[in-house]
Amino acid sequence: MALIVLNPATEEPIAQLEQAGVEETDAAIARATAAFPAWRAVSPDDRGRLLRRLATLVEEHTEELAQIESRNVGKPISGARWEVGMVARVFHFYAGAVDKHYGDTIPVAGGVAATFREPLGVVGLIVPWNFPLNITSWKLGPALACGNTVVLKPAELTPLSALRLGELCLEAGIPEGVVNVLVGKGSIVGQRLVEHPDVAKIGFTGSTEVGQQVMRGAAGTIKRVTLELGGKSANVVFADADLEKAAASAPYAVFDNAGQDCCARSRILVERSVYDRFLEQLIDATRGVKVGDPADPNTEMGPLISAAHRTTVASFLEGANVAFTGDAPAGRGFWFPCTLVEASNDDRVAREEVFGPVAAVIPFEDEAEAIRLANDTPFGLSGSIWTRDGARALRVARALETGVLSVNSNSSVRVSTPFGGFKQSGFGRELGMHALEGYSETKSVFISTEG
Ligand code: NAD
Repeated sequence: MALIVLNPATEEPIAQLEQAGVEETDAAIARATAAFPAWRAVSPDDRGRLLRRLATLVEEHTEELAQIESRNVGKPISGARWEVGMVARVFHFYAGAVDKHYGDTIPVAGGVAATFREPLGVVGLIVPWNFPLNITSWKLGPALACGNTVVLKPAELTPLSALRLGELCLEAGIPEGVVNVLVGKGSIVGQRLVEHPDVAKIGFTGSTEVGQQVMRGAAGTIKRVTLELGGKSANVVFADADLEKAAASAPYAVFDNAGQDCCARSRILVERSVYDRFLEQLIDATRGVKVGDPADPNTEMGPLISAAHRTTVASFLEGANVAFTGDAPAGRGFWFPCTLVEASNDDRVAREEVFGPVAAVIPFEDEAEAIRLANDTPFGLSGSIWTRDGARALRVARALETGVLSVNSNSSVRVSTPFGGFKQSGFGRELGMHALEGYSETKSVFISTEG
């Protein structure tokens, strides 16, 4: 069945694509398997050069890729341009990492042991719809740098930028068969990748629920998996913080990408003594978020991805104590306003990932309670701490069960730093040199020096 791709800001179809089935998936895996021996044998210098060329091509096509992403995801164009810039920086980083990921020589009795970083083979990369190109690059960069070949499956709702990136890979000179892009359903193409015996690893980003299915499916072939899953991160604001700065930044920590962000700090925990003052400042700042046409360079928040998702997001407001509702365009498009809810950490809006522009504001009494509430969630992906007390910042950062944190800032994703979750937010790390661990095996070879 053909796949109709929509623009979520207008609900208009922007593409119609053929979908792959099991047969096409098997054929793509066979192409990647055939391409593997030659690709792993490419010298580190040349592999780095090809990745560098890909990075440069992405830079040269920034506007085109940003327009595709903005129209397909409903992302504000200024954010989409920034994201494409990050994609180029990711490929530059892994171009430079190819010849810096090497083993050790370990003195042992009777000789020496040498370790080698070997590629895994064919890896399946499964990507969600919220940051399609960015998340693709976080997986594709290290996978190629380590010498693996790839079958990439973008989300059904947002396949367009991955298809264009596949063309740019060929234009960069990456040999045919090394990167294969398949448009198709998760339950067909995704599941086949997970279960196929010739796929060595799955790099998955998506919901915790599908992550569980991936883990179960991968068990049959003891496949390696990296899982980047959901989040319910806390933005912890202590009374001694620069409240103005914390309040000004908090909306962008949760409403970015219309809240469809695994790192969204969607629980705003505020020390009781400043709660009322902070809530007022937070409402003012949220009122300032510019929601509207993603093509307008001043727009800060676009629509949600689909009608079905909007219904799910709306369900979180049933019976909720809403403190503020922002404006959103009327008419066509899957719009949803920025919404602040006063809540307790036990409410559904504070326990489940909303994945929309809804933040729960929750008071706490002291540092111990802040830590307890922040950790009282099955997730552990991201978070922020706002305080002027440096010792407290470090103490709380160490106590929080989460993979990525920022202090006095809402920004914690960097090309060179590890990204990934604790608890049910998944395992394995993307970005930085850490990601290379997930796309290679360490081999130890003992060489006897005895005569
Ligand atoms: P999803 O889990 O529904 O889908 C993710 C991908 O998995 C899609 O490509 C989908 O087609 C595929 N898929 C679906 N069923 C499958 C199956 N049975 N086997 C294999 N693949 C299958 O997620 P989504 O709705 O696209 O994205 C939203 C979710 O992604 C949120 O929970 C969000 O938190 C999470 N996310 C996490 C991160 C992170 O890095 N931790 C980043 C972005 C998004």
